[in-house]
Amino acid sequence: MAVFSDSAFDDHERVLFCRDVGTGLRAIIAIHSTVLGPAAGGTRLWEYANDDEAVHDALRLSQGMSYKNAMAGLKLGGGKAVIMKTPNFDGSDALYERFGEFVDSLNGDYITAEDVGMSVGIMETVARKTRYVTGLPQTSGMAGGDPSPKTAFGILCGIRAAARSKLGRADLDGLTVAVQGVGKVGYNLCRLLHEAGAGLVVADIEADRVARVCDEFGASSTGLDDILFAAVDVVSPCALGGVFNEHTIPRIQATIIAGGANNQLETPQDGQRIADRDILYAPDYVINGGGIINVACEYEGNIDDAAVMDRVAGIEARLTDIFEEAATTGAPTNVIADKKARAIIAAATT
Ligand code: NAD
Repeated sequence: MAVFSDSAFDDHERVLFCRDVGTGLRAIIAIHSTVLGPAAGGTRLWEYANDDEAVHDALRLSQGMSYKNAMAGLKLGGGKAVIMKTPNFDGSDALYERFGEFVDSLNGDYITAEDVGMSVGIMETVARKTRYVTGLPQTSGMAGGDPSPKTAFGILCGIRAAARSKLGRADLDGLTVAVQGVGKVGYNLCRLLHEAGAGLVVADIEADRVARVCDEFGASSTGLDDILFAAVDVVSPCALGGVFNEHTIPRIQATIIAGGANNQLETPQDGQRIADRDILYAPDYVINGGGIINVACEYEGNIDDAAVMDRVAGIEARLTDIFEEAATTGAPTNVIADKKARAIIAAATT
């Protein structure tokens, strides 16, 4: 199994392999950087084909969290945990408690939260053994709990910035947006876009989720294979990563890509492919930073929802900066975002 020679290894500070025979726990916690502060990033529960794939995912995702947290203006470094869903995995409380003990053993260098496959309830179980957990239920009106409504609000702010830069639009009234995936983030985004007067086209593998946004927000639906190529102003991927590549990019009709999914580009070169088609791409880890901002506010404590929303709204200005630099230099937006994130971390190192 490769770690130092894995293609996603980027001088990570620490990688902890967590094994507990009694509960069947196999997990990896990767700390990419603590330069800006404790490494924060969620725990993903996933069925990996093998150990190499799990290590690669933890390394890649933790580096992404360093960039995301830096660009969100947070005093947090980047980390991520993966729990391997093995054939005998039983998801017992004892397993999640044991995982909590491993998180605790890092003495606050890693702060966890929900990611794919996890829930607020599981985080409460992890929190029995460590205080370095976020995404827990909080008093109403305070930072905490499910971060997806804040993520969706950040994406709305990002779509506003993109519409202003690309289309010269001051508002979203009458704009059309294709949303791929109407789960937690996609649903909340559809609600906000509908309130802003935008028209919606949606697709999801779960028919009842599509029906709900069609009923509640007057969306129309399209096929799973067509949503990215709909004749709309904005395409907003809110489901899976890796959706933009050499095969999909030539077929996009929208002039803006702005959505919540992580790792939307299959390869970094796809950013150039998108720029070559004169499509404006909002870098994923910048536009979807609302959730981690909520998590950071929860960790700081005593921050109310209105103050969280103010901080999330800063995504609009950060993206506007990136779009302006792209217009001036011709560089792809993903390259500009990576450069800015690395500069923020480097400035804190010196
Ligand atoms: P979710 O599981 O609630 O929703 C994802 C939706 O996508 C589901 O309804 C699912 O059925 C649908 N889907 C899956 N494959 C699809 C396909 N091929 N075509 C259309 N729909 C498909 O997850 P979520 O929390 O809404 O997160 C969505 C994306 O945003 C993920 O990539 C996640 O990593 C990213 N993200 C989420 C947050 C957050 O706050 N939840 C924060 C940052 C980034």
